[in-house]
Amino acid sequence: MNAVELRGVSKRYANGTLANDGVSLCVAQGEIHAIVGENGAGKSTVMKMLYGLEQPSAGEILVNGTAARFKHPREAIAAGIGLVPQHLELVPSFTVAENVVLGSEPMRGIVIDRRRAAADVAEVSQRFGLEVDPHAMVRDLSVGEQQRVEILKTLYRGAKIVLLDEPSAVLTPQETQALFVALRKLVTAGFTVILITHKLSEVREVSDRFTVMRAGKVTGQAESRGARADDITEMIVGRPVAPLRVSRVLKHGAAALVAVQDLTLHGGDGQTHVEDVSFDIAAGEILGIAGVEGNGQAALADLLGGLRQPSRGTAMLEGRVFTGLGVRAVRTSRVALIPEDRLHNGVAADMSITENVIAVDYHKPPLSRLGWLDTGAARTLAQRVLTDYGVVARSPDQPIAGLSGGNMQKVVLAREVASQPRFLVASQPTRGVDIGAAQFLRQQLVDLRDKGAAVLLISADLDEVLALSDRIAVMFRGRIVAHFAANAADARELGLYMTGLASQEGATALLDAPFTPARAEEMA
Ligand code: ADP
Repeated sequence: MNAVELRGVSKRYANGTLANDGVSLCVAQGEIHAIVGENGAGKSTVMKMLYGLEQPSAGEILVNGTAARFKHPREAIAAGIGLVPQHLELVPSFTVAENVVLGSEPMRGIVIDRRRAAADVAEVSQRFGLEVDPHAMVRDLSVGEQQRVEILKTLYRGAKIVLLDEPSAVLTPQETQALFVALRKLVTAGFTVILITHKLSEVREVSDRFTVMRAGKVTGQAESRGARADDITEMIVGRPVAPLRVSRVLKHGAAALVAVQDLTLHGGDGQTHVEDVSFDIAAGEILGIAGVEGNGQAALADLLGGLRQPSRGTAMLEGRVFTGLGVRAVRTSRVALIPEDRLHNGVAADMSITENVIAVDYHKPPLSRLGWLDTGAARTLAQRVLTDYGVVARSPDQPIAGLSGGNMQKVVLAREVASQPRFLVASQPTRGVDIGAAQFLRQQLVDLRDKGAAVLLISADLDEVLALSDRIAVMFRGRIVAHFAANAADARELGLYMTGLASQEGATALLDAPFTPARAEEMA
């Protein structure tokens, strides 16, 4: 029996966007079904219709074999459907139990039966391994624990079909593993799970079957076991994606091109965002910074890119200090930054693609002759960026703000690479970018490294850090707490450091020492 079936479902939003175009898919009862696809493929729209947040414009949705026309989430909940949103929506000042029962509280007479609520929650949480203290305040919980509370909430309201929108996006590897174990227990007990993900490794790891969506349509459905990552990628993107070519380097005894020492930033809020961060990077090396978001990585990028001034400490390129001098001086030192917030710091949104491409080098030849900008040369350069990087744009003269996230990021990267940096700081370079473009951007970072630049890759995507880095440092609460040669690092171990569950004794000291073969072995 199918728990859920969509038959030729289309959804056109009020603004005319056709988000789902004749979508048909089946989810069997008792399976974990993954829905994959690029941003904008229409996945969330499917979820919203299943949960009664949106209504189809055409087609039919069946739940347990009967036609379902949910006008409101209330009706979906009554039909046994629960949604775990991507951005968790709990009340921070309530306890776990209070949040779980909110809206369907057990009553004793006219008062809420708090004891029964806590006991009920403890029972459900134990049964499915969704461990969390019913009496804890939600504001004191980790994101992973809050997500468990959201799942418990759906189960408490009687959900038999649980929908999850990118559940692992906010989790550490350990939390993700725990979530998958819990989902497995759910389906073993006869529940059905539908989840959206963009991580192919997860499709194969956790789901029984998966559906691929592209541009509002279903482009494939298959068994997850044995599915090849390349094939899934091709279904998602619509064409083959060149695999990444990365050879690892261990720079035995290489001199540091970049040397960062005791870099510290105290914020205006009295908090220390970056504390005593020290590392070196050799020419031709990528140092990856792994960490859960919000542990000082963004501030570190700002310091290195000259957007903020350190409270203490320095960063040097080839022995010359470049921190604390402002953006322009950092630029002239041949340090380039791909900022995390590209819309605010990376581009001038109201200017054309050409103007953005030349923004760094407009005052130098060949773009400038005797102080005059050569507009022809500028336009030619911009046109070449569009062609070389496969940027989807009408013309180099169009405003950059009209480009998609991935295309905008390509322009920013092209501009930074064109400035021939000796040191590139790339902060979340592929966030929100589609798979094809992300792979292209990653290859550019590796190629830049192979030409002898030092690269600092800051990414919340641990798979990305593992795939590209030669060495990896883990940031936690503003400090570097661990350091690995990339071939000695594995996701689980990194996860322990990312969550503060482990700390490498003397991680900072190790980094301060010159990089020698003995040290490389020590790290490995
Ligand atoms: P996905 O979850 O795969 O990223 P979505 O279902 O969120 O895709 O979006 C599919 C398309 O519908 C996108 O082009 C998106 O911009 C558009 N869209 C989503 N929600 C709305 C809305 N409320 N109004 C108009 N367009 C929307």
